[in-house]
Amino acid sequence: MNLYYADGARQLGPIDKTELQTLIKAKKIDSKTLVWQPGMTEWQALGRFVRRKTQGAAQSVQPAPPVRQALCSECGQAFAEDDMIRFSDVWVCAGCKPIIVQKIKEGVTVSGVMTYAGFWLRLGAWFIDYIILGIASAIIYLPMTFMGVFSFDRPAVFVTFQLITTILNFIIPAAYESWFVGKYAATPGKMACKIKVVMADGGQVSFARAIGRHFAKYISGLILGIGYIMAGFDDQKRALHDRICDTRVIKSGEI
Ligand SMILES: [Zn+2]
Repeated sequence: MNLYYADGARQLGPIDKTELQTLIKAKKIDSKTLVWQPGMTEWQALGRFVRRKTQGAAQSVQPAPPVRQALCSECGQAFAEDDMIRFSDVWVCAGCKPIIVQKIKEGVTVSGVMTYAGFWLRLGAWFIDYIILGIASAIIYLPMTFMGVFSFDRPAVFVTFQLITTILNFIIPAAYESWFVGKYAATPGKMACKIKVVMADGGQVSFARAIGRHFAKYISGLILGIGYIMAGFDDQKRALHDRICDTRVIKSGEI
């Protein structure tokens, strides 16, 4: 096989097929590792290299449509993608699926695989954010209170500031959440609980979606917060607002 692979800045090899599988099994290399073989013009990610190779082989042997293959992240063997299961970023063969599922259940962080954060962890994050927002609001409203704007003896001022605070009560939490989620994928509360908000495929949530998700939470809050409780019963632990916005809340260990 005469395959070379990159380990940081080092170039290692050549290795044969058996050695390659051993390295994948030992998690020394994965589908993203750059590999090179004599005859190739440039280095390529291993996943892509394997896919190209199997496609090329299939085309030269028979005119039938090429079978797309991928490497199992657990055992390192190549299988047709149709026979495999995809976990966010990695492929797992049917034989290894139970092992991966068990690992996820046990809360082991599997590289490239998303571990969804459950109801209680999310509630903890919510509580921290609630305290932070409470303090922030108090700092904003306290001077107004001292200015006497909440007293009834000046109706025009009172009504104006009531209006302003009502609007701020909507805007401050929305700005807080969408800014942090759009920029860091997590509010300070979520960061403290080591969880984050991502797209279904693990990608980053945009500011616009983060704002939409914030207001979708109003819907989740209806009927005794049933939209929040849904997270406890969903296989991907999605709350109603996650379903609406196609987001997931995951543990932010590995990814
Ligand atoms: Zn496998």
